[in-house]
Amino acid sequence: MIRTYQLNHWLWGSLDWLFPPVCGGCNRTGSRWCPDCQERVRPVPEPICRVCGALLIRPGLCSTCNKSHPPYEMMRSWVVFEGPIRLAIHSLKYKQNLALGDTFAQYLAEYVRELGWQADLVVPVPLGRQRLKERGYNQAGLLAKPLSGRMGWKFSNQVLVRARETRTQVGLSPVERKANIAGAFRADPGWVAGKSILLMDDVATTGSTLEACSDALVKAGAKTVYALSLAKALPHHGFQIV
Ligand SMILES: [Zn+2]
Ligand SMILES: [Zn+2]
Repeated sequence: MIRTYQLNHWLWGSLDWLFPPVCGGCNRTGSRWCPDCQERVRPVPEPICRVCGALLIRPGLCSTCNKSHPPYEMMRSWVVFEGPIRLAIHSLKYKQNLALGDTFAQYLAEYVRELGWQADLVVPVPLGRQRLKERGYNQAGLLAKPLSGRMGWKFSNQVLVRARETRTQVGLSPVERKANIAGAFRADPGWVAGKSILLMDDVATTGSTLEACSDALVKAGAKTVYALSLAKALPHHGFQIV
């Protein structure tokens, strides 16, 4: 698996030589993720809840995690969803920018190592059948696959599926989001029972999708689920900061 990954990485390198790459964050020619854009991303500001990663006033647990532990062990995002990362995610989502997925996987792998997570399997949050048909691919998979290669863990986009179609989460309140997505996923016990799983998405807003996926994985017998997104959309005034 590592070999396949290295081959892909070299392939992107050779393609860069033939066709100079364009930065996914600002469209300037020269590199896929330019030094300027690298400077402009920022980690989620501390303190955060040590389980779900929600913004807090002081370190510890948020009130929700304090009441009951979510199905995942920990949820984290690499950076804040703003500036060049928004454009980069758009490029992943609508232009199938495979090379950019590979670039971000380097940062994600570093971040996962810092967190000390150990997993057997990397699984992307699945798209609904309709959206998959329209888009032709799943952008979370463009991050999850190269990340699994870098970590030397298995990858599968088959073990977690949508059990039902859901309406878009855009414009819904945190409570509505949770209700909209609850029970929307199903996992294959044959693959996940007893395994430690890294669940990957591109953007997390309230985390309700990652939570519903984790729930399905745990119900199918997963030992541990770590939930990761490339970027976290920070709450607007007065919501979710606890
Ligand atoms: Zn740039
Ligand atoms: Zn929490």
